[in-house]
Amino acid sequence: MISFIGAGPGDPELITLKGRRLIDSADVIIYAGSLVNPAVLDGAKGTAEVHNSAYMNLDEVIDMMSAAESKGLKVARVHTGDPSIYGAIREQIDRLKDLGIEYEVIPGVSSFLATAAALNAEYTLPDVSQTVILTRMEGRTPMPPKEKLRDLASHNATMIIFLSIGFMDEMVKELTEGGYRPDTPAAVVYKASWPEQKILRGTLKDIAEKVRDAGIDRTALTVVGDFLGDDYSLSKLYDKNFTTGYRKGME
Ligand code: SAH
Repeated sequence: MISFIGAGPGDPELITLKGRRLIDSADVIIYAGSLVNPAVLDGAKGTAEVHNSAYMNLDEVIDMMSAAESKGLKVARVHTGDPSIYGAIREQIDRLKDLGIEYEVIPGVSSFLATAAALNAEYTLPDVSQTVILTRMEGRTPMPPKEKLRDLASHNATMIIFLSIGFMDEMVKELTEGGYRPDTPAAVVYKASWPEQKILRGTLKDIAEKVRDAGIDRTALTVVGDFLGDDYSLSKLYDKNFTTGYRKGME
C-alpha cells in the first residue's frame, strides 16, 4: 500500500493523526525534501528507508514504490501541505493504477490555510468575498488560456497566489490591470507555521517593495483582497434575529 500523506505546512504538530501514524509505521518514506519539514519524520522506525524526492524523477519514484510494494513493504509518500494543491500526485496515482498497486490519500493542512491562521483572517467575509481563488503566476509551467491572473482578478475575490514570490512586480501589474484597486490590501506570509515565519502587510501599491526589502524569494504565499480590510457584514449564522435549523431567531 502506498499512502500519499499531506505533511502540513511546516509545524510538525500540523499533520493529521492518521498521517503521523502512517509515517511512524512506514518501511519506506519518500518525502518532498524541498518543502517538507524533516521534523515530521522524527517518529519514523529506525529501520525505515528515507528518500528525498527532490533528487528523483517520476520514474525513479515509481520504481522505488513498486520495488517496495513487491516486498510487501509499506510506503509513505509525504507531500507538503495538502497533496491536492500543486502536489503532482495525479501522475503518480495514474502510474500506480497501471501497475495495479493500491494507494490511498491522506489530506493535510495546506499552506494557504496556515497562512489564514497566521494572519488571523477569514477568507470568506459576508458582503466582501464569498469566493477563494487559489492560483499561481505563469512560470515554467504555463497557465491554461482562461486562467491568466489578469482574468481572475476581474472578480475581486479573495485570491491566494502560490509559487510566484519571485515575480511580485509582474503579479501586481496583472492584478491591478485585471481590476483590483491599487489600494486593495495584500499580505505575504513566508514559511507559515515555521519558526522563521514572517508576515508582511500592505496594499497592491507597496507589497512588492516590502517583499524586496525583506529579501523574501521563496516559500511564501501572496494573499489579496478586501477580506484583509476592516469592512464587512455580520454573518446570518449567528444573527440573533435569524432562524437556523438549530436555533430560533428572536424576531
Ligand atoms: N501542496 C502545498 C503547496 C505546494 S506548491 C500546500 O498545500 O501548501 C509550493 C508553494 O506553496 C511554495 O512556492 C509556496 O508558495 C507555498 N508554500 C508551501 N509551504 C508554505 C508555507 N509554509 N508558507 C507559505 N507558503 C508556502
